Amino acid sequence: MNLHEYQGKSILKSFGVKIQEGIAVDTVDAAVEAAKTLQEQTGTSWWVVKAQIHAGGRGKGGGVKLAKNLDDLREKANAILGMQLITPQTSAEGKKVNKIMIAQDVYYPGESETSEFYMSVLMDRGTGQNVIMYSTEGGMDIEEVAEKTPHLIHKEFIDPKVGLMPFQSRKIAFNLGLSGTAFKEMTKFVPALYNAYLGSDASMFEINPVLKTSDNLIMAVDAKVDLDDNALYRHSDYAEMRDVTEEDPTEVEAGKYNLNFVKLDGNVGCMVNGAGLAMATMDIIKLAGGSPANFLDVGGTANARTVEAGFRIILTDPNVKAILVNIFGGIVRCDRVAQGIVDAYNNIGNINVPIIVRLQGTNAVEAKKLIDESGLKVISAILLKEAAEKVTEVLND
Ligand code: GDP
Ligand code: MN
Repeated sequence: MNLHEYQGKSILKSFGVKIQEGIAVDTVDAAVEAAKTLQEQTGTSWWVVKAQIHAGGRGKGGGVKLAKNLDDLREKANAILGMQLITPQTSAEGKKVNKIMIAQDVYYPGESETSEFYMSVLMDRGTGQNVIMYSTEGGMDIEEVAEKTPHLIHKEFIDPKVGLMPFQSRKIAFNLGLSGTAFKEMTKFVPALYNAYLGSDASMFEINPVLKTSDNLIMAVDAKVDLDDNALYRHSDYAEMRDVTEEDPTEVEAGKYNLNFVKLDGNVGCMVNGAGLAMATMDIIKLAGGSPANFLDVGGTANARTVEAGFRIILTDPNVKAILVNIFGGIVRCDRVAQGIVDAYNNIGNINVPIIVRLQGTNAVEAKKLIDESGLKVISAILLKEAAEKVTEVLND
């Protein structure tokens, strides 16, 4: 589950990580009030207005703006709220900004004495260890740094048996070229960030930039956080941070039925049980000359209701030219799936894309009978190869 910057920062703060303070709001009037509150709390007289969307690169897209007085702030908040923000990480249409964060300005005075670092914590699957990645080249062009000068990005692996050791935090502070107060501050920042990552069961924390201010404080100016969905049951207070307006609507709908659905941009919808078989089916679709419109694993508990929901979701996609159903009935019973297909056909009505069905395993015979007797125009296949050929045929029709 991805979080907004303001939510990620609130987690960081709860673990003692120093952050650029800010207040999230959704109206211009509230933005002005937030600015006044921040002025009282932090003494700041300049602010940044930051669009809250689930995508990075906001600064490049015009979603992060400095305001030097309250009129200026009102104007910038008004411009950013409701805008369609296009960044290198959004689609071409961009994302609508429903919330902004008013944050204290932490760069001035003395901007020339500030430094922007990059730091992230994530799981490295190769070594099976958490890793802290960091670089002196933080700020808005980290992707370019990773591409052109990858040796400037350092990695510090954490042995799960002993955890993050103090010498590792000192090494990071040293490699970032810090000394004196800033060095000390960094040796506090790193373990606090690592604890936030562990304690929130995150899959990733990316802080870009980590700022060294002109008075040698070390703080998180940005926060990109991805929490592990499988651990959310341990954090009821984080679950409500989910912002479904940032997610793909078909994926949200699929989630209501416990369907593992990922929207793709091909022309053949597919409904499969088991993630491995689903991926193999996507390969088969490619081999047959199509491209998958989605990944859908209906899981072991598929029933008529979930299958119908799956169909409805696949059919909302106008690119879908055919649907391939590939079910191996192990735990799931083929006849239940078949019933779901028949129900979907009858309830949705007017399905005019061809459906190729391959049902094998438990109750496959009953399933075939159900489909045959329903009088639906469903093409059935026994072998996977056969199913693929039938996909090719209907695509070429
Ligand atoms: P991103 O573009 O989505 O990564 O958003 P960030 O939160 O990282 O902000 C983008 C950039 O805005 C940062 O790299 C900073 O250079 C700048 N920025 C952020 N906060 C401040 C601030 O308080 N003052 C000034 N002057 N610039 C800021
Ligand atoms: Mn950033």
